[in-house]
This record gives sequence, C-alpha cells and structure tokens, in this order.
Amino acid sequence: MIIPKKDKLSADELKQVEKIASDSECTILEIQGQNRCVYAILGDETQEVMFKRIAGLSFIRKVDRIESSYKLMDRRSALADHLVKIGNVEVGKDVPFIIGGPCTIDPANPSLFIETAHALKEVGVQGLRGGVWKPRTNPYSYQGDNKSLDIILQAREETGLPIDIEVMDLEQLKLALEAKVDILQVGTRNALNYSLLKEIGRLSAGTESAVLLKRGRHVASPNEFIAAAEYIVAEGNPNVMLCPRGTTPALDGYRNQPDESISPLLKSKTWAPVVVDPSHSVGHAEYVMACSLASIAYGADGLCIESHIDPSKGIGDDPKQAVRPEKMKEIIEGCGAIWKQRYRP
Ligand code: PEP
Ligand code: MN
Repeated sequence: MIIPKKDKLSADELKQVEKIASDSECTILEIQGQNRCVYAILGDETQEVMFKRIAGLSFIRKVDRIESSYKLMDRRSALADHLVKIGNVEVGKDVPFIIGGPCTIDPANPSLFIETAHALKEVGVQGLRGGVWKPRTNPYSYQGDNKSLDIILQAREETGLPIDIEVMDLEQLKLALEAKVDILQVGTRNALNYSLLKEIGRLSAGTESAVLLKRGRHVASPNEFIAAAEYIVAEGNPNVMLCPRGTTPALDGYRNQPDESISPLLKSKTWAPVVVDPSHSVGHAEYVMACSLASIAYGADGLCIESHIDPSKGIGDDPKQAVRPEKMKEIIEGCGAIWKQRYRP
C-alpha cells in the first residue's frame, strides 16, 4: 500500500510508480478514500527492490507492507481512517446507522412500500431497504420484478432517503448502478461468490454506491468474511459495510443462529463498519428488538431491519419478521440510548 505525501498522485507521479511496479510484474490500483487516495500494489508486493524504489520517490510518504489476506481491509491499512458515507451520513459516527424497509417490494401494491418509506423516514431511519430481486430457497416462490426498482426509486425521490437493494448477478448489478442505487446488498447466498464480488467492486469503483456484504450463512469465519470484502475493495470500492445476519441454526426457535456477538471480533481486525441484520438473525418480529439492542451493545455501527406498515399484507419474509414503524421508533430510541453509554474498549 502506497501513501503519497499529497492527497493524490499527479498523472506523472502515478506513471513513475506504475513503471517501477511493472518492472516487478506488479500493477497499481488507485483507491479513492474519503479525503485522499491510497494506492494498492497488486501482485507480489513483498519484493524488496520495488519496495525500496517506490519508498525512495520524493513524493511518497510511506509504503506499507501488510502480510494479510486482507491487506486493504486490515485495521493497520492506510484505509483505517476511511469513513463510509451514505448520502450525507458517515456510518458509525454520531448515531447508529439504521436501514429499514420491507423484505420484498410488492409490485402489485406500490402504495404499501411508498407509505412504509414515509412512515420510516418519520421515525428516523437513515436508509431505505426493499427487495427488488429475491433469492428464494423455494424456486416456485416470488422471485422479484424489475418494476419494483421504479417503486424504490420513487420512494427515494419522495423521502430523500438513500436506498439499499440486493443484487445477485451482473444484469441486476448494471441496472442498480444505472439507477445510482446507494447501497448494493450482497446476500448471504452470494457472500462468497468471488467473481460477483469482483464485478461489484470493479463496476462500482469511483461511484457513490456502497456495498453491504452479508455474512455467509454457512458460518464464514471472521477472516473469511473480511477477505470476501477485500475482493470488493481490491477492485477499487472502499465503501464496504459488513453485515452479520445469523448463520446456520443450532438453536430451535430462531430462524438462524444470531451472530451479533461477532462485531467486536470484526472490529478488532478491520476498519469497515459493521451493520447487523437482526431480522434474518432471529426470523420473528417479536425478537428483533432484543437482537437490535444486543447488536449495538456489542459494538455494531448500525442495523438493517425489515419493517413494513402492515406486515400481514407483505410478501417474502415480511409477514413473519417485519416490525411496524412504531416498533422501529422504539428500537431506534433504545439503540440510541445504548450507543451513548456503551463501553468502548
Ligand atoms: C434479505 O435481506 O431479504 C435477504 C434475503 O437476506 P439474506 O441474504 O441475509 O438472507
Ligand atoms: Mn428478507
């Protein structure tokens, strides 16, 4: 990782660095952070000669070598002070970053989604979620509809809230990027789909679209989870948030095994914000409050919660696990109180 003295290398300076790297069969990737650019060396960056030649250039502050399978995501990386910004909000800075909205947008009833969006804005959510295309275990269940993209775009227009939708393939990714979707969600099923993660990083590099990467349900270890995010950052988009959402269940009663206690482990290893999904973790609306509070107590920076004005009229997961906007208000207040007093190591 190369850190220049100024915020960004000039075209000529970058050329000099690239020449040295290519002499050692490496390439340079520019990563635009919040306030300045850092440059990753792709290839075998342990080469002493290349390292010394780059470090010796007058316009270079330092060259870091981090021996890690996630050298950009690592806490010790030059991106450590990078803040992920969604709209005007810096995630994890002042209050918990709360995304809310239905599991699935019902294209036959757009007003349910639009009214939910307004109700959630009213209670203080900072991001709006809604499934356009859905990964369904049952191939005969509702799979999603392009029309729902227009509905969530209308909701963004009316409320001003940034939007979060899941993308599962290249075609959906391109449509989402064209629509300037603020948060591209990668679901648990694609959490280790490295070719998709690379495409997401490559095509969203330099855009305002951030990525919410869920944890693999098949119990991705903290290192495996962070290394998956590295695929996105290493293609040029450092705006990544990690989303624990429960893993393969070992307890009867919850939908998944709630894994909100992973947050401090992740935060000890990476600078990336952690945004927990308590809804899929527990799978029942009545337990979502407890999991939300616990997540913030464990150090999460935010939450992604399924919410609907009338869950019984929703589709997908909404009838069983969405909370009403009134409950979201209680959750936001409760989490805000824990956030203020929580123990920070
Ligand atoms: C969702 O957010 O609705 C969803 C399908 O999530 P996950 O990928 O965590 O199951
Ligand atoms: Mn869902």
